[in-house]
Amino acid sequence: MRVLKFGGTSVADAAALERLVGIVKTRTGARTVVVSALAGVTDRLLAIGELAVHDRAGARAALDEILTRHLDMARALSALAVEPMLRGIARGAERTVDGIADAAHASPPLLDKLVAAGELWSSRLVAAYLTECGVRAQWIDARHLVSTDGRHRQATPDLAATEDAVRRHVRPALALDRVVVTGGFIGSGPGGVTTTLGRGGSDYSAAILGACLLADEIEIWTDVDGVYSADPRVVAGARVLPAMSYEDAEILATFGAKVLHPRTIEPAAALGIPVRVLNSRRPDAPGTRIDADGSRTGGYIAVAARGTVTLVHVTARQRRADRAFAARVLQAMADAHVAVLVGEVHKGKLTVAVSPGADLDGLRARVGDFAEVQTREGLTAVCAVGDRLTEDPRLVMLALAAFDGRHVHLVARPGGAASALAVVVEDAAVHDLLARLHGVLAGEADVLRAAVA
Ligand code: ASP
Ligand code: MG
Repeated sequence: MRVLKFGGTSVADAAALERLVGIVKTRTGARTVVVSALAGVTDRLLAIGELAVHDRAGARAALDEILTRHLDMARALSALAVEPMLRGIARGAERTVDGIADAAHASPPLLDKLVAAGELWSSRLVAAYLTECGVRAQWIDARHLVSTDGRHRQATPDLAATEDAVRRHVRPALALDRVVVTGGFIGSGPGGVTTTLGRGGSDYSAAILGACLLADEIEIWTDVDGVYSADPRVVAGARVLPAMSYEDAEILATFGAKVLHPRTIEPAAALGIPVRVLNSRRPDAPGTRIDADGSRTGGYIAVAARGTVTLVHVTARQRRADRAFAARVLQAMADAHVAVLVGEVHKGKLTVAVSPGADLDGLRARVGDFAEVQTREGLTAVCAVGDRLTEDPRLVMLALAAFDGRHVHLVARPGGAASALAVVVEDAAVHDLLARLHGVLAGEADVLRAAVA
């Protein structure tokens, strides 16, 4: 049993779909295929949602262009049987555009409804083309599978309800030897309203479905060769990691590595399901295997940076803070959905790095009577992970040396992991810094000499 997830670039055009079918055919046994919207479509739909507020006709025309792109693809693939479905999805999206125009407001529920069209279109197209190629495929509306809470645009799946739906809809289809095809990213909240799991959330959908199916493996098909030791566009010596641990992958993704949605790891790790990141343009390349062990490689390191983050200092109003201070603050952060990247606690003071969108007013409202909240914006969080950090403690010193001359605001071990180090610094020349950090940790001789000199 296998879940294969294809990202936007891996379904972008007719040639990509041909590769996809080739990949699905090489896998035997039960297969569930999860797809993102075609590359660029989600961005476009969100822009259309905003446009609809003041330009209904413009928004409708733009929607029509996206429909045309899908119809052209169906035509190029001789899968025109899917045309009525593609048109039906477009009509639904058009009604949503009208809803936004009538209200003169792009509310989160309407935006979710509108962007869902992207994954509905792509999954319908993929299912139709698989069928066309002789693979018995069954399309299932992801909203009938993935149950979520009602937090639009950033919903959290309900595992028990999703597992139940998977048992009712996916398992019977797999038992009939069908390849199940569904859209990532989308789900349904209370009352059946359409929700989405946050940008890049199709990876997360694949992991949730993989967990509900107790899959043997979750394959994330993308347009790069795997997880790199650093962003290869920024760091010349970056290499693909053959393997890494769940923990390191999760931290790396949280700190800005774009290749995986950070929440993907948790459901897989909880059940010990390996996640593989693979290149759909080079399906025979080994990719990166992420699992509990993570270390068949003789040691690895990876670095990532996430700019811009906000540092939040929460200080107790009373000099003698009560012992539950940190717990109360953390609870308030959870209630305000403020996701903590990394932080430290010191008696009546708590310092955390959060992303700029975090609802800090919500936090202030919750802790205002016992704590003061101060913030500093526009910083960068840099992290290094890898079992080599655990094995060789000197590497931590070398890593810190790479920050020489910079104003360091916070040094911490994310997730308490011995294999990870996070540093929050001023947001200047971060590419440079990443290259230096990667160089010292990867043992590049010249960078090393410069760092210890
Ligand atoms: N289509 C969605 C996005 O662009 C989800 C995904 O691609 O994973 O964010
Ligand atoms: Mg993605």
